[in-house]
Amino acid sequence: MPSESTLPRYMTRFRCIAERCEDTCCSGLKVPVSGSHWQRMQAVVSSDPEESERLRQCVSPNPGGAPTEQAFIQMRPDGHCPLLDAERLCSLQRRHGDALLPDICATFPRVVTRWGERVEVSGTLACPEVARSCLLEEDALEPVPLPASSPHVTRPETARHIPVDTEDAYTFHAETVRAAMLRLLHRREYPLASRLAMLGQLAYGLDDFYFRGTEAFRGEARSGAEARLNKVLQRFERPDILDAVHRDFTGLTLPGGPCVGLFRSVLKARMAAGRGERFSSLVRGVLDSLRLENGGASDLDAAWHTYAERWSHLEARYGERVHRYFHNSTEHQLWRAPFTDSPSLLAYVFRLTLRVGLLRLTLAGHPRVAELRHKPSPTSESQEHLDRAAVETFQLLAKHVEQSPDYLSLAEGLVGPGRGAETLGKVLVFATF
Ligand code: SF4
Repeated sequence: MPSESTLPRYMTRFRCIAERCEDTCCSGLKVPVSGSHWQRMQAVVSSDPEESERLRQCVSPNPGGAPTEQAFIQMRPDGHCPLLDAERLCSLQRRHGDALLPDICATFPRVVTRWGERVEVSGTLACPEVARSCLLEEDALEPVPLPASSPHVTRPETARHIPVDTEDAYTFHAETVRAAMLRLLHRREYPLASRLAMLGQLAYGLDDFYFRGTEAFRGEARSGAEARLNKVLQRFERPDILDAVHRDFTGLTLPGGPCVGLFRSVLKARMAAGRGERFSSLVRGVLDSLRLENGGASDLDAAWHTYAERWSHLEARYGERVHRYFHNSTEHQLWRAPFTDSPSLLAYVFRLTLRVGLLRLTLAGHPRVAELRHKPSPTSESQEHLDRAAVETFQLLAKHVEQSPDYLSLAEGLVGPGRGAETLGKVLVFATF
């Protein structure tokens, strides 16, 4: 685990491609404006009555909200920002520069987290260019030192801050635990599904004494609890333990129809929420290609078989490529979304496996991936098709599903208390998918 501020290598390569981008940063987002920013925006445009009126029409005040949400930019019915110009660039930024942009617009697609005094920068896959940089290169996730005056930390005051406090054992040991998780994830001699099962078993080993609000590390019990924590982490360094988890896990066969039904509901619900044409078209294509538009349990089983066939075809022909997308995106998630946001490590690993399952189904159902079955052997052109399908899948799900309140509450409902053998069982169910 680095002791200095870092960013992943892909963020050193990231450049916004502006008008060449297939999306826009703000489409489908809710853009809050802080009270001080809203006042500054009004003051700056006040000399131009036309612009002033336009801004008034585009921004809805929210006087009872938090200081950071004193107003919201009112998106158009198609999900796009009303302040975009004819070239789909931000008219506010073009006329007045970055300083006048609300925080989320000025910082997107960067994600800045401060662990105590140490800063970590990453990106959100909701930006297609970040998704490309993160998913396609082998060394994308390698942490590199963050320069002192990084262009990625433009508004340090908006960074997410996680205090590293000796009194809070969950966050105090979080970096050590995450380092162990990353080491496990890097054991690429095992399939990702087995590595997710290993992460689940590691989390289960810590489950009864290491969680948010634990009292197990208080006072004189501290050194004993820390020794126990290290013992569990070291156990998952041992090849015999990893081999055993892999062997037991690969022996599991579970029907995937119920998972397909769940993922279908998620995709349909998000499409019904009106998430814009790119997302709707992807979901329609996936449902159609897996014959999931309607249908009962037998159709779900049939779709699961289709999915499984496509997946083994993908692995046989494009294994290295596909494994890279999923490895990179899972590692990216460990850096970008701290597990301390979840009440327990097991609940967090459950979310990781649920996410991987949904992404796998969507990618296998992507119409461009369905077409690849008819190609006799991989070519650079077919790999390019696959890359484009993967970037679109990961980007659109990051933007329109993964942070949505209904998906988050579904995940919370599924995981329940997020502890114990029942949660580990759910991790294994989604990891086998
Ligand atoms: S989504 Fe990313 S690449 Fe596209 S305009 Fe925004 S920052 Fe640039």
